[in-house]
Amino acid sequence: MTLHADAAHPDLVTVEVPTHWYNLAAELDQPIPPHLHPATKEPVGPDDLAALFPSGLIAQEVSTEAYIAIPDPVREIYSMWRPSPLIRARRFEKALNTGAHIYVKYEGVSPVGSHKTNSAVAQAYYNSVDGVRKLTTETGAGQWGSALAFAGAQFGLEIEVWQVRASYESKPYRGHLIRTYGGVVHSSPSELTESGRAILAKDPNTTGSLGMAVSEAVEVAAGDPDTRYALGSVLNHVVLHQSVIGQEAVAQLAAVEPNGADLVFGCAGGGSNLAGLAFPFLREKIHGRSDPKVIAAEPAACPSITQGEYRYDHGDVAGLTPLLKMHTLGMDFVPDPIHAGGLRYHGMAPALSHTVELGLVQGVAISQHDAFSAGVQFARTQGIVPAPESTHAIAAAAAHVADDPSEQVVVIGLSGHGQLDLPAYAEYLDGKF
Ligand SMILES: *Cc1c(COP(=O)(O)O)cnc(C)c1O
Repeated sequence: MTLHADAAHPDLVTVEVPTHWYNLAAELDQPIPPHLHPATKEPVGPDDLAALFPSGLIAQEVSTEAYIAIPDPVREIYSMWRPSPLIRARRFEKALNTGAHIYVKYEGVSPVGSHKTNSAVAQAYYNSVDGVRKLTTETGAGQWGSALAFAGAQFGLEIEVWQVRASYESKPYRGHLIRTYGGVVHSSPSELTESGRAILAKDPNTTGSLGMAVSEAVEVAAGDPDTRYALGSVLNHVVLHQSVIGQEAVAQLAAVEPNGADLVFGCAGGGSNLAGLAFPFLREKIHGRSDPKVIAAEPAACPSITQGEYRYDHGDVAGLTPLLKMHTLGMDFVPDPIHAGGLRYHGMAPALSHTVELGLVQGVAISQHDAFSAGVQFARTQGIVPAPESTHAIAAAAAHVADDPSEQVVVIGLSGHGQLDLPAYAEYLDGKF
């Protein structure tokens, strides 16, 4: 990567779009435990995954290469908004009365307003290479569904999305965005699938969950030879795609902070944006170039790292997905319908869970009130309205450095903007939580 500090904006350093994705697991002594077949409990092989995923992504799911080349068509689309900015949040620092140097890596500049496009574009590309006609998926707040709809439009794929009912009803805008990009969106659980009908028969008033929506999307993909499924987080290949965030951030930071980062914060729902940001910083640690601590901020309402068990569990409610070794609250866990819909997932990426077990990442649970309080303070100082998910990372970092004069270098993953989540801000400002 070549580097140059932008003379007009000393806080903004531009780097090139990475040429490779970075796979931390390839550099760890202990491998990530393999996914298991739901029936045989044996490690899943490429054939088991072929009904759901295209060959390029299956290869990445089990890759032991540290660097994997980003195909040109993907890198070209990335360059529509990447590299994303690393911004020194000086006004936020001042408000916190801290000596820390706080940098935010801002993924809200992507077309849909979050990091999700980094994987959506890659997934749509590999599916199009295999001649797939349609992709199904789940979405919570709608960030992933809209990212995949955007990516589908780039590569000529049909996109069908099951959106968690709580979000479908309370946040219609991303559903409109999905349709604007040419996708189709359903409220989940729906009457369109066997798993959806079974859930509705048991609990017609359910608020829905990501685990339920995954079951519906997987069921439809498994039943149609031209259709594949796309997951917006959790799996190794998704974590891999998100590594563009951290690779850029490491390079951007190096131009202004020669000793690198002391602390890296990100919000963790399925774990992909945090892993994407943090793993290249952990690469720096493993190679002895710096010694950052990584902190995963999760919602108190869905605390899989801090309260869950580390064991094999399904990724969905119906038990259709492979068993994943992860921190989990259990496949049946239905979190309260908090505003950070992207953090309402019962499990954590096996790759991130593994680094937690190795002591490289620590979890902290943040209440919704504290998260939005920090989000509002960030908006009032820096202008950017953070996504409800991202406010958890901001709150965790703020709690860590406020009123502390030490000059620590802090990087916060600002995974998206909250411009379509303003009803949630309004509820907070009206004192409803
Ligand atoms: C989806 C989403 C998240 C949570 O997903 P991870 O896989 O944990 O990154 C966080 N922030 C935003 C803005 C999201 O859209």
